[in-house]
Amino acid sequence: MSPDQTHRRWSNLQKVLERSGPFCRPDFEPSPETLQFLLENCKVLVVGAGGLGCELLKNLVLMGFRQIHVIDMDTIELSNLNRQFLFRHKDIGSYKAEVAAKFINSRIPGCNIMPHNCEIQAKDESFYQQFHMVICGLDSIVARRWLNGMLHSLLVYENGELDKSSITPLIDGGTEAFKGNARVIYPGLSPCIECILDLYPPQVTYPLCTIANTPRLPEHCVEYVKVIQWPKENPFDCAIDGDDPQHINWIYEKSNERAAQFGIQGLTYRLVQGVVKNIIPAVASTNAVIAAACATEAFKLATNCNATLNNYMVLNNLDGVYTYTYEAERKEDCLTCSQVVREIEIKDPKYKLQDLIEFLCNQPDMQMKTPGLTACVDGKNKTLYMCTVKSIEERTRENLSKTLIELGLTNDSTINVADVTTPNIITLKLKFLRGDSAGAQ
Ligand SMILES: [Zn+2]
Repeated sequence: MSPDQTHRRWSNLQKVLERSGPFCRPDFEPSPETLQFLLENCKVLVVGAGGLGCELLKNLVLMGFRQIHVIDMDTIELSNLNRQFLFRHKDIGSYKAEVAAKFINSRIPGCNIMPHNCEIQAKDESFYQQFHMVICGLDSIVARRWLNGMLHSLLVYENGELDKSSITPLIDGGTEAFKGNARVIYPGLSPCIECILDLYPPQVTYPLCTIANTPRLPEHCVEYVKVIQWPKENPFDCAIDGDDPQHINWIYEKSNERAAQFGIQGLTYRLVQGVVKNIIPAVASTNAVIAAACATEAFKLATNCNATLNNYMVLNNLDGVYTYTYEAERKEDCLTCSQVVREIEIKDPKYKLQDLIEFLCNQPDMQMKTPGLTACVDGKNKTLYMCTVKSIEERTRENLSKTLIELGLTNDSTINVADVTTPNIITLKLKFLRGDSAGAQ
């Protein structure tokens, strides 16, 4: 492309970046260098190349970002094609990140999109450190939490003071059917994902007793077949594969029988598929709005031309269009972004390791998934329990039924916890309370 065409191509951006205006930040200095930085140097990471990711990549490159990495471990499925518009039928089975990068690189001159076909956990600190910002369009809360933990682990503190040059801002978009949100996080300065984790309700699960004894909803019938009948009858000699029509058909038939038995209406093949695969319906327009908000924030962050979102935007398309923005607050003892060691109060001397693990999983602001626990007992490092490595799980399983006291833990003992929700080790401090009430907390 000739310099003249380049000039015309970015003339609208030049109007924003080379002139001042009433909405500019006071410290914004109009300059042609800003556009140059955006085009040549600003390096961003897009996490996820799905519904949000396709929109994000398209928006970013049309806004002048050209040094983009995109990471996604998923491959393209037929059901993606209605909204993940960088993919075609011939791409089914190929990696999303790779196909998306190739599409954009061939379509937009000067773009240099680098795909990474792997999970985010496969990359280390040095990878994440190279970016000016990370933009996240994920559907998994666990992955989002892990990424949040990773960006916080890059922070450098000197004498308790945060070194601001170590901050990698995170722009996070999320959608669920007709609802969505966008937020801007400056790790160490603004509230992080974990600070308001209790706003994310845990994924819908149905109590087993309801499923087994008093089903009321078609979902209960499907869950029953999935959780109880399938393992018992093992019709195909393997685990359920949500993409295998034979499996879904079997579950559909059995669920129908059960629904008829309890007089429950409304069971459909689609619903069965949804419950089995835990599908959250994706709406293209919600993705478009949220990705647009995120890309705008990225542009503001990169150019400083306007104040960024402070700090949480909510969108609801369910009935008309509704949106508002509020300032979420930091949690003083946040496990990820505060420097405070969390204390766990133990009131019952019979409190078992199993109780502690359940507490870590159920506590709304922790919601751990597979916590592995180690502690220093009598000057030695001891693994209390770890379920992610089979041999260690077998060796430590008997500890679950032991009380914390039997395991040699005392007041002020610290426990180190590893979990899939964070790349970091979380330290907890035990506080044994004297008293006659039972149970922790
Ligand atoms: Zn936090």
